[in-house]
Parts: sequence; C-alpha cells; structure tokens
Amino acid sequence: MPASNTPQGAAQDDDLVFADETPAIASDGGHAWRVLIVDDDADVHSTTTFALGSLEMHGRPLAFLHVYSAAEAKAVLEREHDIAVILLDVVMEAPDAGLHLVRHVRDTLGRHDVRIILRTGQPGYAPEMDAIRGYDINDYRTKSELTRTKLYTSVAAAIRAYEQIHALEDSRTGLAEVVRANTELMALHSVGEMTLGILREVAALAGQLADGLLCACPPGAASVAWHVLASCGPSAELARDGMLAAGADGPTAALAQALAERRNLYHDDHLALYFPGKAHADFAAWVRLTRPLDDMRRGLVDVFTSSIAVGLDNVALMTDLHRAAFYDPLTGLPNRTRLVELVDDSLQAGADATLCLVDIDQFSETNDALGHQFGDALLVAVAQRLRARLDAGLALARIGGDIFSLLGQADLIDPAAMQDLFAAPFSIEGQDVQVSATLGLVRLVEHDGNAGDALKDADIALKRAKSQRRGGHFYFSRGMGVEIRERVRLMHALRTGFARGELFLAYQPQVELAARRAYGAEALLRWRTEDGRFVPPDRFIPIAEYSGLIIDIGAWVLREACAELVRVRAAGYLDFTMSINVSQVQFRHPHFIDMLRQALDDTGAPPERVELEITESMAMEEPDLLIERLAEIKRTGVSIAIDDFGTGFSSLSYLQRLCVDRLKIDRTFVTEITDAARGSSIAEMVIELGRNLGLSIIAEGVEDERQAQILQTLGCPLAQGYLFARPLAPSALIEWLASDARTRAA
Ligand code: C2E
Ligand code: MG
Ligand code: MG
Repeated sequence: MPASNTPQGAAQDDDLVFADETPAIASDGGHAWRVLIVDDDADVHSTTTFALGSLEMHGRPLAFLHVYSAAEAKAVLEREHDIAVILLDVVMEAPDAGLHLVRHVRDTLGRHDVRIILRTGQPGYAPEMDAIRGYDINDYRTKSELTRTKLYTSVAAAIRAYEQIHALEDSRTGLAEVVRANTELMALHSVGEMTLGILREVAALAGQLADGLLCACPPGAASVAWHVLASCGPSAELARDGMLAAGADGPTAALAQALAERRNLYHDDHLALYFPGKAHADFAAWVRLTRPLDDMRRGLVDVFTSSIAVGLDNVALMTDLHRAAFYDPLTGLPNRTRLVELVDDSLQAGADATLCLVDIDQFSETNDALGHQFGDALLVAVAQRLRARLDAGLALARIGGDIFSLLGQADLIDPAAMQDLFAAPFSIEGQDVQVSATLGLVRLVEHDGNAGDALKDADIALKRAKSQRRGGHFYFSRGMGVEIRERVRLMHALRTGFARGELFLAYQPQVELAARRAYGAEALLRWRTEDGRFVPPDRFIPIAEYSGLIIDIGAWVLREACAELVRVRAAGYLDFTMSINVSQVQFRHPHFIDMLRQALDDTGAPPERVELEITESMAMEEPDLLIERLAEIKRTGVSIAIDDFGTGFSSLSYLQRLCVDRLKIDRTFVTEITDAARGSSIAEMVIELGRNLGLSIIAEGVEDERQAQILQTLGCPLAQGYLFARPLAPSALIEWLASDARTRAA
C-alpha cells in the first residue's frame, strides 16, 4: 500500500487516538498491543508502521514485529504468546502460504485469541472462502482496498476483539478463582482462619500482596471501635489491641461509609468491602491497593464478598457452637467432649500423663437441700479454687454434674494434695460449705485403648474409690479392666441367650410348716448357656439390671410365672400361690404396672394368687415413689413380700407406711438358728415384728429339720428351702405337688 494513498487527517475512530508527534515503536512490549506484520514486501511493512504507528488504544500504543515469510512467522508465533493481531499477506513463498499459516495458528498452535487480518496484493483475488471460513479471520482485504482509514478501523476492531476475548477469559478464570476461594474458605471452621483467608483471596483477586484488615462491626458500634478479626501486611499496624479506633478519615471512615451504604466502595488506592451478617454483626474489610482495579476485577470482588458473607455468618455461628460443644457454660471450663480430645492428644504424644476424675462428695444432697442455685455457686467456687491452686500445666475440665477432671504430667497429680485443696470450706452466699472429693485415676502410659476407654477406666476407678470410702482415691489397674470386659462379654451373651430362649424358670416350693403341705412356689430364673453351663442368677441378674435388659427379661418372667400358675391351677391345685422376684430397676420402670396387668390379663392368672418379692434394700430407696408404687400394685390385687428381710435397715415406722403383706426372713438368719453362738434372736425379732404389724412371715433357706422345728416353735407359719424341695422344673413341680397331696391323703 503506497503511502500516497493514505488520506491525511483521516477520520478518527472512537478508539483511535493519534499522538502529536510521530511515535517511536513502542519498546514496552509488555504494555503495548503487539502486532505481527507478515509480508514478503518490505514496502508494506514500512507503510503499515507509518500508518498505524501513532495508534493508541486504551492508553496502550502498538508495537510491531516484522517477518517476511510464513516460515518466519511460525517461529515467532511459537515463541511469542501475547500477539494481538497478525496482518498477514496471503501470497508469499507459496500462493497459499498465508492460509497455511492461519491453519497452523488455529489448529496446531491452538491460538484462538490472536486476531488475523488477511491482505492480498491482487484485487479480485479471492482465496477459497470455504477454506478460511472456519479459521476465525477478522478481515479480508485487498491491499489497495486498505486505505489508511480502513486499516485503522480494521486493526482497532481486531484489537478490541482481542481485548474482549481476554476479558472473557480473565473473568472466567477469575470466577473459577472466586468459586475455589469460596470453597476453600467454607472449609475453614475458625473465624481467625477464615477472615485471614478472605483478606488473602481479595488480594489475589486484585493481583497483589495481602494488605488490609477485616473487622466485626456490631450495629451501633460504628462510632466507637471495631474488633479486628484479621489483619495482614503493613495495614496490620492500624489495629491497637485487636481494635480499630474510629477516625474521621482513613480506613475507619472508609469502613463506616461502606457499612452505612451497605456496599463495596472502590478507590484507586484502597477498597472498603462490606459483608452483610445475618444473625450477628456485619463485617467490613479495608484493603490497601497498589493499583486501581479494573471493572472486571471489581465485579469479581463483588461476587466474592456477597458469596463469602454467608460463610462468615456461618463461621461466627460455628464459633458459638464450638463454645457450646466444647465448654461448660457454668464454669467456662472445657467439657467432656473437649477432655476426650485432650486425652487423645496425650495418648498420641505418648506422654507420661495421668487422668484424674474428681467427684464432689454428697453434692446431690447439698443440691437437694440448698437448691440448684446454691449447688451451681458451689461448682463455680470449686472450679475457681482448682484453677487458681493447681499447676497451670494441668488441664482442668468439668465433665459431668459434680465431676471435674484433671489431665497432665503424672508427677504433677498427687491425690493427697488434690484432696487438701478441699480442706478449707468454700464460702457460698455468705455460708461456709465443707465438701470433700473422691478421686478416680488412670495412668495413660499403662493404658491401651482410646480416650473414651481411658475415661471409662477412670470412671471405674472412681466408682471403686467411692464404694470404699468417700474422700479417698483409687488408681485404675488392668485387673479391673479384665473384670469389666468379662462383664461386657457376659452382657452380650445374655442378650443373645435371652433372645434364643436360654433362660427358663425353676420353681421352688413353699410349705405351711405346721401341716407340711404345699402353699406355693417361688419362681427362680435360670440361664443355661449354649454349651450347657449354668450361670448363677446372682451373677447375671446384676448385669441384666445394669444393661437394662432386666426390663424385657422381667416382663417375660412375670408372664411365664403367671402362665405356670394357671397350669398348676388347671392341674387341680387351686390354693397355690406364685411368688415372683422383681428387680429394683424393673420396679422403677414407668410402665411396670402396665407390664404386670398385661401379664395377668394375657395369662388369666388370678391376682390374689400372685405375690411379688422386692428386696429390703430396695424398699429403703426413694420412699415416696415406693409407697405410691406399692399402693398401685395392691390395687391390682397382687400381694407383696419383702425379700431378704433383716439384711437392710428398714425402720419400723417406715415399714408401717408400706402396703406389704409378708416378710421373708433371710437365709443367713435361718442358718444362725442352730448356731450356738448367735441363736435365733433375729429370726425371733422378725417374727415378732410381723405379728405386731399384722404381716405374714416366711423363712427361706431351711435346710434341716431342726431349723424347721425351731421356726415352727417361734410361730413362723411358712418356709422354703432344700429341706422341702430344690428349685424344680415345671413338670417336676407338678409331680412334687401330686406326691405332696398323696402324702397327706395317705
Ligand atoms: P432370692 O429371691 O432370695 O432366692 C432365694 C435363693 O436361695 C435362690 O437362689 C434359691 O435357690 C436359694 N435357696 C433356696 N433354698 C435354699 C436352701 O435351703 N439353701 C441354700 N443355700 N439356698 C437356698 P437362686 O435361685 O440362685 O437366686 C438367687 C437370687 O437371684 C434370688 O434370691 C433373687 O434375688 C435373684 N433372682 C432369682 N430369680 C429372679 C428373677 O426372676 N427376677 C429377679 N429380679 N431376681 C431373681
Ligand atoms: Mg426371692
Ligand atoms: Mg431371698
């Protein structure tokens, strides 16, 4: 294109700005738009640079690269990745060298951003349009057609297209960046980590180093100072003691404005970002900028702040939840969950640590007597004293109502010193309260298992300590663990055994002493395991109680014994009474009466022929519940006996208030009767007591004739024991009853 063809003072495109002087070729390749001129005619190179040299777009000049063949162009394009436009001659070393290059750029190099303007020397010469259609060519002109103005317009349009392609590409990767940042931040659970992360991500979006602060701004606090949640870079120095003080200008003013306008504010040298909080305070960030953000980056920051606001709110909530999950609200100490974590850490570190549970003795009595508020105050006082007096290296926690725990280096935990801390009384609401503590300890080095197991072991040791002496302590030993594991094993075996029908009832006859005739029988639970071994009830019943299995088992016993009663009656023994043992746990169950009624209804057993045995120790606990329960039972028509009588400490007045029908003299007192040293005093007393209270008496464990004689002489009407019969299988019971009847008939 000859220079003379170029019209002077060409109409200026909106995007084209001509510099006053003839510009030098931009040396700042990074900042200029780079244009590659590919033409085998040197004149074309000079006229093009002359025509376009002064063009600027968005403040950026053009920089030209010159090559004279398609082959050279290939080499340059492989090296240079930021070429915006190629001005390409179609005919060079070969008639279609230009078109080949186009194909190479798009297909081989995979370069889709670079814009291509094709030029051909001969007017009317048209390359195969089909061949180039697919190659995203910006313009196709004959050289004579390309006047200076047209060339400007064409190149300017190409550069604008190139810029848009890049903006789209940037915003796509920018959005992907926002999504990634968002996802990563959401995974952080602490406010500190997350807020710092936000500052870093904003800086990354702005393409600079993080430099700013993020504050929590509770409504109405604008005029005072804000709590700085995170800060980084030189801006960190703006915060004093974690607070950002109010100021008429500078960061605080910018933050106040963003909060007031509820939006992000963009300035050339800083940003004030607003994060709306839902449940809590709003959040705002101030970020120093090294250069202004373009529209696209602002858009991305807007998207980021609005999406992250939800996460900030969650994380604030999470902090609250974390507190609730790991700390005891009353004392502010770590709770059980947190202790488990701490023990786990100790175990993993293999530290020579001891875990010590501290149980406040008689706390529930104090609580009941003086009220919960007083009890709470006592716990707080205990927590404060322990915290103040114990070594700071020990972790203190409150893991249950009145149970504290200590965890730390074994040599820092001394049981005697611990108990000394309770020597002085606690002053609560102006009163001196004296309490003691019982300790259960476990040495973690001797422990195998996880933190939960260690805690269980410490609890076992505590229970053992309590069973011995209040105010004492006990270290867990492996032997205790073995015993517990055996019990757990037995518990599983009992559960499956019960389901498989390994439990059954034996019936031990009870007789009228004077006539020696059958009166009834006591149903006694038996467990024969799969391998034919018998597990004694004294062993498995406590386990059934402990595990709660006794509820189902007990209900089954009630039904089964009632059914047996009905069978015995059907065999003709109508004045036969069935005694059924009831465990304490079962008795306290809220549906116990329903279970009893159900058993009676389902089997059709007459209630007046059914007797329940409760133990004396049980009769002493929770008197009010017991009195009410017994009255309810009486209303069903069933009678009640107190088992193992004489082993407990029932008071006379209390006994009178219970609706019971019979006392069962414990076997130990029956055995004593023939013992020269001890004699029959207790048995006598019980019989006398029964007479005075109008209660019937039965003696259990009668093994020989002399015992029977003495009891009869003392006025005991009924007895049970090996002398008369062992516990019998149902068929044997019927046989026993038949032979008993025959004996009397004879
Ligand atoms: P218990 O209710 O005091 O039962 C009397 C225990 O003394 C029975 O032991 C019985 O076999 C035993 N016995 C009876 N006569 C003699 C004798 O002349 N000499 C000796 N040395 N022992 C005699 P067993 O069957 O081993 O039951 C032990 C305890 O297990 C029972 O004491 C009772 O507390 C509990 N138990 C048994 N069956 C059940 C049940 O179905 N439910 C509940 N909750 N507890 C039961
Ligand atoms: Mg009994
Ligand atoms: Mg008994």
